[in-house]
Amino acid sequence: MADADHDPPRPAIVIHGGAGTLTRAMFTPERARAYHEGLRAALHAGTRVLIDGGSALDAVTAAVVALEDDPLFNAGRGAVFTADGRHELDAAIMDGASGRAGAVAGVTRVRHPVLAARTVMTRTDHVMIIGDAADRLAQAHGLECVDPSWFSTPARREQLEAARRAGGGATLDHDGPAAGENRRNHGGDSAGDNKFGTVGAVALDAAGHLAAATSTGGMTNKLPGRVGDSPLIGAGCYADDATLAASATGHGERFIEAVACHRAAAAIEFKGQSLAEATAEVIFRRLPLDRGRGGLIAIDRAGHIAMPFNTEGMYRGWQRVDGTAWTAIFDDDLCGEL
Ligand code: ASP
Repeated sequence: MADADHDPPRPAIVIHGGAGTLTRAMFTPERARAYHEGLRAALHAGTRVLIDGGSALDAVTAAVVALEDDPLFNAGRGAVFTADGRHELDAAIMDGASGRAGAVAGVTRVRHPVLAARTVMTRTDHVMIIGDAADRLAQAHGLECVDPSWFSTPARREQLEAARRAGGGATLDHDGPAAGENRRNHGGDSAGDNKFGTVGAVALDAAGHLAAATSTGGMTNKLPGRVGDSPLIGAGCYADDATLAASATGHGERFIEAVACHRAAAAIEFKGQSLAEATAEVIFRRLPLDRGRGGLIAIDRAGHIAMPFNTEGMYRGWQRVDGTAWTAIFDDDLCGEL
């Protein structure tokens, strides 16, 4: 086992693309391949930064930007719809070295919400800016802004319609009535239409620093103005060199109440648990008590990686600078193809 105090850091990046009802029966081989390719492209974007000696902060930014541009995932382009048929995007980023964090919530125009979150962190004295003011801040700092329709995809529109027909509240984009109805409408194989997910990345760089970033469209059919766990520091995103970097995905309200990512960090700091023990306790013991479904990815300064989830699947993967890498979707995935 690596000893963080004596061994040189083993730089690595870990990503997720959401968790939910993901079973093999819902995927054609082509669809599964598309998701693996999307994950792999994001891993490569982050790993390139680490190979060049870049920071964990730059690596998670690069990986999340790639995932925000991929319409397969519920962040940036391909974000889910609110109940009133719009997109409200949330993102956060945290630097484990300095302890600084930045976040945006309810943005509607900035193409890459994670870059807006980073702008809040580096260019203001604040941690979170919301709504139109966050879009304007991003624009003022030269970030690309787009027409809100740029985020929309037909599959997402259909997902909203399914959630409305089901008459329930907000649903995870790849879970619940919307996903179920989509499956029925597509003869049981609509993985491409509803298997999207919040995205996140955590990384360890050669200097031994950690960083985390999370970006999302939230939950399908959410009330306008609803903010989930993703942009809340400690709930859906957290980084601290002394403990871990973590990014969560799942039913945001339950992750907020559990302060999920910080809870895992606290278990390492105060209970002396390992990364694996601390993250498993949150996902398999604390969250299920409140019917909280989802997962998280995490890394510590020794380069240990944890990716626990209590759903049927979670889009996930990791890559180290030595080239070893792995991507997976299902619970029983033993080995991804890279
Ligand atoms: N956690 C996100 C939210 O509640 C949703 C997700 O992870 O898919 O906004």
